[in-house]
Amino acid sequence: METVYLNGEYVSGSAAKISVFDRGVLFSDAVYEVISVIDGRLIDMQRHIARLERSLGELSINASADWSTIAQNLVTENDLQEGVVYLQVSRGVMEERDYRWPAPDTAPTIFAFAQSRALIANPLADRGMKIITRPDLRWQRCDIKTTQLLYASLMKMEAMAAGVDDVWMARDDWITEGTSQNAHIITQDGVLISHQLDRRILPGVTRIEMLDQAKAMELTIEERAFSIDEAKQAAEAFVTSSTLLVMPVVEIDGHKVGDGQPGTRTGKIRQNYLAAVQRASSTTN
Ligand code: PLP
Repeated sequence: METVYLNGEYVSGSAAKISVFDRGVLFSDAVYEVISVIDGRLIDMQRHIARLERSLGELSINASADWSTIAQNLVTENDLQEGVVYLQVSRGVMEERDYRWPAPDTAPTIFAFAQSRALIANPLADRGMKIITRPDLRWQRCDIKTTQLLYASLMKMEAMAAGVDDVWMARDDWITEGTSQNAHIITQDGVLISHQLDRRILPGVTRIEMLDQAKAMELTIEERAFSIDEAKQAAEAFVTSSTLLVMPVVEIDGHKVGDGQPGTRTGKIRQNYLAAVQRASSTTN
């Protein structure tokens, strides 16, 4: 039986229960992190903690815990070799449903669980992802990692219905990001373009390390929005996320990207990214 964490205790998944008056349940008044685990080690934990604390701060949710120890204990308890740790914090439980927040000293609801999943041996890395573009109709604070994920989930279902892997969302023809990944292209001139960090995208943890690796490969980097047309004309395209790591995109709205095969520079970035995070986690964990 899996072991999960809930409000200070490690219990079996079926024993972990939260209130129907929890603000996370009623208002998606909650933030979360997904941390990848490779070879039994948490990847980039410190950056996930920094982003979690930023998300909590932006929403004035008072919560603190030893996030790293919780995640590490779940890896150990569940003997997780490869997969993810999911960590969620809500503003806590109200006495009755009310838009107004409860008192600031209300205890937050903190829970976490581990899930086994193949991250490195993902067949998508060999065949590449097909994506379609759709309007980005999310709210304007996509920089906060909240559990308000219904629009992204609807878009993921549109992708499935269209027989592709995912959706890249766009505001006025400018691509923001994927349903749960940051989006990037490499132009015909070899310039890597990645949306600038602002309120339209989530500041991806994987994106940070990916950009470092791309710099080390001496790629020119432009942090700016790119249009749907620019993406279709690109030499290579790819996404980054904690679960997909660095993943090639080979088709956009039915147009082949480059020759329709995963890009060679993307493959190199993925390889170098993996080597770097594995090196770093073996020295910090
Ligand atoms: N953008 C969105 C909307 C996401 O949901 C995610 C991850 O869940 C990402 C980007 C990638 O972020 P990270 O690399 O930190 O996993």
